[in-house]
Amino acid sequence: MDLSQISSINPPQRLLMGPGPINADPRVLRAMSSQLIGQYDPAMTGYMNEVMALYRGVFCTQNQWTLLVNGTSRAGIEAILLSAIKPGDKVLVPVFGRFGHLLCEIAHRCRAEVHTIDVPWGEVFTADQIEDAVRRIKPRLLLTVQGDTSTTMLQPLAELGEICRRYGVLFYTDATASLGGNALETDAWGLDAVSAGMQKCLGGPSGTSPVTLSAQMTEVIRRRRRVEQGIRTDAHQQGEDEMIYSNYFDLGMIMDYWGAERLNHHTEATSALFAARECARILLQEGIDEGIARHKLHGDAMLQGIRAMGLTVFGDVRHKMNNVLGVMIPAQVNGDQVRSMMLNDFGIEIGTSFGPLHGKVWRIGTMGYNARKQCVLQTLTALEAVLNRLGFITRQGAAMQAAWDHYLTEAPHAE
Ligand SMILES: *Cc1c(COP(=O)(O)O)cnc(C)c1O
Repeated sequence: MDLSQISSINPPQRLLMGPGPINADPRVLRAMSSQLIGQYDPAMTGYMNEVMALYRGVFCTQNQWTLLVNGTSRAGIEAILLSAIKPGDKVLVPVFGRFGHLLCEIAHRCRAEVHTIDVPWGEVFTADQIEDAVRRIKPRLLLTVQGDTSTTMLQPLAELGEICRRYGVLFYTDATASLGGNALETDAWGLDAVSAGMQKCLGGPSGTSPVTLSAQMTEVIRRRRRVEQGIRTDAHQQGEDEMIYSNYFDLGMIMDYWGAERLNHHTEATSALFAARECARILLQEGIDEGIARHKLHGDAMLQGIRAMGLTVFGDVRHKMNNVLGVMIPAQVNGDQVRSMMLNDFGIEIGTSFGPLHGKVWRIGTMGYNARKQCVLQTLTALEAVLNRLGFITRQGAAMQAAWDHYLTEAPHAE
């Protein structure tokens, strides 16, 4: 290897308007460039306590156990599933997109008995459909996705906690893509566990996963056996089933590290914690409701613009997430060619799709730091120009003007 050929990192300037990751807020980048400190420096443990308090605000919860799992969003998912599911437990997963399948895959690895119900991609479940399945299957856990970016749909959760309580079911949701841009009320909705990630509406880099656990979920996790508590002898009495098959993702051990005992576990990813702290600080200073309203404003402006271009939107728009839009790729154009022209000629990234939607749907995000007027107007202008160049003829300027009109009527002073 010729080291002289390797320059310092200098990535191209991009405007990330896909389903995540998105551009980090510059304040988050500055927080991450802060010098490291020791794991048990009082400043560091103080920051950890602040992070717990800040994320209680973000998750709308009083849950004591609200902390970060180091790793991307699926680290939070795995930590919760591994710590909560015992082999042989029945779990119910309502699948309405790719991330429902991820929950099934991880639950299988936890050796759960996995039951699913399905709706076509682009739709969500009614509370009745979920209640019927809960009554029939009698799961120990209900594993849901709130916002499935693969379909852009937002599953309503508000009524599910009451159903879970009635049937004695633990209630989890993956809110990675939705948190900060759509309402999520952990306590009011009776959620026992929620996990999220940084690179969607929270405006940071992937690498930490905030999670929150109800008192009941904490109790379930605390009852599990661990190696240092003498699994070898306990195993015969309690059964191997009691063991959590991961050290890194054992939430009981992670709680002991974040809690007053400060038992050594991993070395908290310090720069990532600085980023997560700044993301939550920015969001709470704006206000949870204000942040959600901002995502709705810019998501709606994008929707108006896309429709004014004569394009069709994917899925049941009444249930779409505020922060991401599925756009049907018109038959005349090649979706990947449009994406590469957007990237190479305009420096703008929009998303492709997976599975059954591949080649049929683009996904355009307006989230976190990029839920801003100039990002929306630039993206619409560029997309319209690319489409016209490739032969999908529109009345040029109409899309951007429609979005601009939306801002002028809905929020004339929005940025
Ligand atoms: C984007 C997304 C993830 C991402 O997981 P990572 O491990 O951070 O890549 C997980 N769940 C949902 C619902 C998502 O939209």
